[in-house]
Amino acid sequence: VKADAMSSVGHDAGMTDDSTTGPVVGFYDIVVVGGGAAGMSAAKIAARSRRSVLVVDAGSPRNAPAEGVHNYLYAEGKTPTELAAIGRAEAAGYGVEIAAGVATSAGVTPTPAPGDARFTVTIDGRRRVAARRLLLATGLVDELPEIPGLRERWGKDVLHCPFCHGWEVRDQSIGVLSTGPMAAYQTLLFRALSEDVVVFTHTGPAPTDEQREQFAALGVRVVDGEVAAVQTADGRLSAVVMANGRVIERQAVVVTTGSSARTDLIDDLGLDMSDLEVAGQVLGRYLSVDPTGATTTAGVWAAGNLTSPALQVIDSAAGGAAAGAAMHRNLLDEDTAIAVAAHRRRAAVRS
Ligand SMILES: Cc1cc2nc3c(=O)[nH]c(=O)nc-3n(C[C@H](O)[C@H](O)[C@H](O)COP(=O)(O)OP(=O)(O)OC[C@H]3O[C@@H](n4cnc5c(N)ncnc54)[C@H](O)[C@@H]3O)c2cc1C
Repeated sequence: VKADAMSSVGHDAGMTDDSTTGPVVGFYDIVVVGGGAAGMSAAKIAARSRRSVLVVDAGSPRNAPAEGVHNYLYAEGKTPTELAAIGRAEAAGYGVEIAAGVATSAGVTPTPAPGDARFTVTIDGRRRVAARRLLLATGLVDELPEIPGLRERWGKDVLHCPFCHGWEVRDQSIGVLSTGPMAAYQTLLFRALSEDVVVFTHTGPAPTDEQREQFAALGVRVVDGEVAAVQTADGRLSAVVMANGRVIERQAVVVTTGSSARTDLIDDLGLDMSDLEVAGQVLGRYLSVDPTGATTTAGVWAAGNLTSPALQVIDSAAGGAAAGAAMHRNLLDEDTAIAVAAHRRRAAVRS
């Protein structure tokens, strides 16, 4: 069941303006902001139930620096670019429209007429589209410790996640850069992959007696003092340089990244963020959602790293799929109510 206006492109749904004036140039059941694993998965599942879907995507996924995507069953080792192209093609095959650009602002009509659009989204500050439901899947931005040389090697041999790329550095000489309480557990996770692990206490807390005993039992060396830089040789990370000038050869360095959810439309939509705290360390602010991805703002769903930094590609795709299905069911309830009301009006005229 579809509302009449649903597929009409160029229909102005009588929205409150967001920051951009000008006509609405497209009207969709669902607009998805962010075309990574979460957003594209939601778009595909909704389109396969014949929903009109637009994905607005700026094209910079979180894992862009990585050479391959791991742990995504059936597609092991494909590059992020290859995987994104497959996702776009699969979604487009079911009629999903994809707009390259940045969603710069959003407008909300809190109580739209049944079947009408509740949201407008402005793309690149000039084009506006309208949507009955909105999915935010904008991901997050990683913040690296400010150490010369780290950024250049990020995603290659400067790593954060043992599950994403630990296997690729197995048996190598690994250094764990401590900047907070997470580092001790990261050390154990990477020790499972290599016998040669060094913890650099850097700006993190001194290891507890229990942690020192664990490190000693596992042959993990602790190097106290601040790290000044990481060095590269022949296009690979080669060593960690301490502030006192000592150079310690390493092939990979593990960091704890800070991260901030990409919040471009959060304020416009009145969404609440909450701190995510792990082991006493605030890792960033994220959108809270229910198991279907619904936020506390009616009509807005969210999925992927915007809701948690720990989600891998497969989790993000799963969250997107759950949200896509939930948005379709939510629209279906509204469409069925519209159809029943029209049916009753017709029946009343006949009787
Ligand atoms: C270096 C590195 C390597 C990783 N390797 C792996 C791995 O091997 N395996 C694994 O499972 N996970 C890996 N991850 C984690 C993985 O990147 C995330 O799980 C995944 O990207 C989350 O998907 P997402 O759809 O939530 O966000 P993203 O993939 O980040 O996609 C978000 C999209 O939204 C777009 N966007 C943001 N704001 C806007 C806006 N306002 N308007 C329009 N578009 C917007 C972005 O440009 C981007 O295209 C890695 C992470 C990093 C940092």
